[in-house]
Amino acid sequence: MSYKSDIEIAREAKKKPIQEIGARLDIPSDHLLPYGHDKAKVSQEFINSVQGNEDGKLILVTAINPTPAGEGKTTTTVGLGDGLNRIGKRAAICIREASLGPCFGMKGGAAGGGYAQVVPMEEMNLHFTGDFHAITSAHNLLSAMIDNHVYWGNELAIDERRVVWRRVLDMNDRALRDIVTSLGGVANGFPRQTGFDITVASEVMAILCLASDLDDLQHRLGDIIVAYTRDKQPITCRDIKADGAMTVLLKDAMQPNLVQTLENNPAFVHGGPFANIAHGCNSVIATKTALKLADYVVTEAGFGADLGAEKFMNIKCRKAGIAPSAVVVVATVRAMKMNGGVAKADLGVENVEAVQKGCPNLGRHIENVKQFGVPVVVAINHFVTDTEAEIQAVQDYVTAQGSEAILCQHWARGSEGTEALATRVAEIADKGEGNFAPLYGDDMGLLEKVETIAKRIYRADEVLADQKIRNQLKEWEEAGYGKLPVCMAKTQYSFTTDPNRRGAPTGHSVPIREVRLSAGAGFVVVICGEIMTMPGLPRQPAAQAIHLNEQGEIEGLF
Ligand code: ADP
Ligand code: MG
Repeated sequence: MSYKSDIEIAREAKKKPIQEIGARLDIPSDHLLPYGHDKAKVSQEFINSVQGNEDGKLILVTAINPTPAGEGKTTTTVGLGDGLNRIGKRAAICIREASLGPCFGMKGGAAGGGYAQVVPMEEMNLHFTGDFHAITSAHNLLSAMIDNHVYWGNELAIDERRVVWRRVLDMNDRALRDIVTSLGGVANGFPRQTGFDITVASEVMAILCLASDLDDLQHRLGDIIVAYTRDKQPITCRDIKADGAMTVLLKDAMQPNLVQTLENNPAFVHGGPFANIAHGCNSVIATKTALKLADYVVTEAGFGADLGAEKFMNIKCRKAGIAPSAVVVVATVRAMKMNGGVAKADLGVENVEAVQKGCPNLGRHIENVKQFGVPVVVAINHFVTDTEAEIQAVQDYVTAQGSEAILCQHWARGSEGTEALATRVAEIADKGEGNFAPLYGDDMGLLEKVETIAKRIYRADEVLADQKIRNQLKEWEEAGYGKLPVCMAKTQYSFTTDPNRRGAPTGHSVPIREVRLSAGAGFVVVICGEIMTMPGLPRQPAAQAIHLNEQGEIEGLF
């Protein structure tokens, strides 16, 4: 049997005008700023006007450690949102926008899949409403102004060797990772070594996603540390006087985008920070707005729960003053098998034993989420190749852990396939038994915060940090940054820092390679292992197959 591709299904969508989708959440059409017929931004004025509304219930969708077998967090987020609407709830979805880099690199979009997608998926995966272009421009304006400041006499005494603000581009382009700028003579400035990161890795992206409004945005942009002087005094974006103009460039990008699911339910798609050197979830403004407008808001955190959910709770919820009422951990039979040692090529063969062997990875994520005081449900995202015995094995394991696993078939059947999950999640959220608290307090030392995460989430024995890193953290504490949360950057494939160690390993150490201060975003990035901030394209990039067909439709995009 052959299945339709995501893009074929998306193309058949019977979309409603965006004003009708807005009306479902009582957004008057004059407060929807349309970008075509099926996308709109929600006006800041309207957002301000609903601040007195009661908040709906927040539901986080997260997952086991990703494997090449695919988990389907976004697909499940969309499916659960549709499922809640199907059982008569007023529910909205909040997810991230897509980066162009991965679109043209590996296959795999950001709009969900099968019959659980957000549309228009082509646009959402490409230019969308231009937010990422605005972020790229704002970031690079600051880069240009730094070099310009040095060029015109360097009044701030910036040490050109210590400019930490790089440039960004929303493309996978390894050739730009390390470059020398200002070559070509006196008129072009002072040559220095720098490089490009992908736009989603920009601190401006993280800031946009954490800022509560335009004032807060400008303030945070101003706090960005862009360089140091020879005696290591920080120079900020405010010193360069770029914060005002950057805010102007970001004015429209700050407004959340409203689109719809295949089943015409409201979906906010806004912001898209990396889940390693940033916190990896959609904007605070979108989530908070959705909570004011819907009774249930389903949102997603990037990567596995050890990275994504941890940061969602410890960074986003802490900063935004929000709390999830329930967490859905997505697992698949295929991923359990891979965690149990099966190679990707052999996933089609029934192997209950491997499923059982891989389940401890899921078990640990369940335990971890419970540590935040939030009730957990497992969603088994059904693949057509799963056998009944394999599904039963996952359910038995989860039941033995004192939790419950619900089979979901949204990819194949849309909201019909998530009725059971939606009913249960709504029940749990309504009971209000959650008692959310971040894992550590603001006042804990920075290194202690890292140790807390390493021991309680990764189940490591120790954190390895050399004197230079310890000193750096101490300096930041003394400079007043000690109360910030830490943003862990480590491989998403394992609880450990070794991407090849699947399952639920113990007895490992977490070495810190580098620490960076994101003073504007408001966190300290702790890098454990190799973290790529400018990805490259694979040998056969997806871009090679993307083209327009005779009808002018996009082909080859997922
Ligand atoms: P994540 O958000 O975890 O990265 P996505 O939801 O974006 O994952 O899904 C990744 C890909 O896997 C998509 O192309 C989607 O169509 C596919 N996928 C998800 N669930 C299923 C499923 N149950 N059966 C087949 N393919 C699926
Ligand atoms: Mg996703």
